[in-house]
Amino acid sequence: AKKSLDEKICYYEANMDEASRARRAMARDLWVALEQGQFFLNFQIQRAVSSDEITGYEVLLRWQHPTQGLIPPATFIPVAEECGAISAIGDWVLEHACREAVLWNLQPRIAVNLSALQLSNAGLVEKVRAVLAATGLPAHRLELEVTETALIADRDRALHLLQQLKAMGVTIAMDDFGSGYSSLETLRSFPFDKIKLDRSFINELETSQQAKAFVRAILALGHSLNVAVLAEGVETEAQRAILEEEGCQEGQGYLFGYPALLSRLGELDQAVPPH
Ligand code: C2E
Ligand code: CA
Ligand code: CA
Ligand code: CA
Repeated sequence: AKKSLDEKICYYEANMDEASRARRAMARDLWVALEQGQFFLNFQIQRAVSSDEITGYEVLLRWQHPTQGLIPPATFIPVAEECGAISAIGDWVLEHACREAVLWNLQPRIAVNLSALQLSNAGLVEKVRAVLAATGLPAHRLELEVTETALIADRDRALHLLQQLKAMGVTIAMDDFGSGYSSLETLRSFPFDKIKLDRSFINELETSQQAKAFVRAILALGHSLNVAVLAEGVETEAQRAILEEEGCQEGQGYLFGYPALLSRLGELDQAVPPH
């Protein structure tokens, strides 16, 4: 039977309610998670493409929910952004990541993801300074990864914050470059130390001449701007070989190691692939 428009709208609204109820429930759970220690950190190796030199460790947040199991960050980070919990969660990540970096003597650096909300918070610089002081991690061993979308909200403030962080010795990476809005203007006006080339380019490296041309152009750009370029999502030896041939120096991806607990990083080839 055909549904009337009214019925369809009702159905739609009921579903919307359910979706927003679920988000509200998750928002509440996020605060509980912080309190009860349900978050933990994975680390993923970043390394040279043509040698096994380690260049860093990206910190990736994980949530072990008591009834729903492991919830991926792609699911809960947007909710945490929406309800504001990301500020407290981001503080937690920063503090624990720096502490573990000292404990495990991670060299040369760790890379921590920053959310848009953290970047719009004027207290960020003091927070970073305090965490470095409290943990004893030297500033040059901390890199912060920011996405272009995180810079959009208030570009002037973001620029000011990043400049202050850089002045402390923290390095800044532009995450997911080539996805979404990345524009040359952003590269030009922000003081990035590193460009992280989005996984989508690396995915197509073997099959698409266009993807390869983009990678080549971005590498040339990085080279002339004196900005390091890291290829994200390197999964195959063929991709690694092309990257090496193109002069890409750094990579990250399942080929080099899955994200894992630090206690398991030494046995990464035995770690379980995610999802
Ligand atoms: P991202 O910053 O781009 O992080 C890289 C993502 O790619 C991670 O997903 C990682 O597990 C995955 N990955 C690494 N190598 C490969 C590969 O070879 N192939 C494929 N297909 N994937 C690979 P993950 O851990 O699920 O995180 C997803 C996103 O969640 C991150 O994307 C980041 O935007 C966000 N996120 C994770 N941790 C944090 C955090 O502490 N704070 C904030 N604000 N965001 C976070
Ligand atoms: Ca990242
Ligand atoms: Ca990325
Ligand atoms: Ca991303």
